[in-house]
Amino acid sequence: MEQCCIHKCQKCHIGDLVPLSDFGSQGASIKYKAWVCTNPECGYNIKIRNGDIYINEPIMNGANNSRPRQGGTF
Ligand SMILES: [Zn+2]
Repeated sequence: MEQCCIHKCQKCHIGDLVPLSDFGSQGASIKYKAWVCTNPECGYNIKIRNGDIYINEPIMNGANNSRPRQGGTF
């Protein structure tokens, strides 16, 4: 494990900023698309989307997307 790319969080100075990768719509991996603080009480994050940088967006954990489903078509 290389530790070259881990940076201390500049907000809380407790957690580390770790790079997260994603996969594009074409299946190509997008490396280091987002950086997130490992301190859960801090939640500092930086994301890159379409060339724009988003700092400290609220983290989406899907908990707020639990709309009741209509019907039940499997
Ligand atoms: Zn932090």
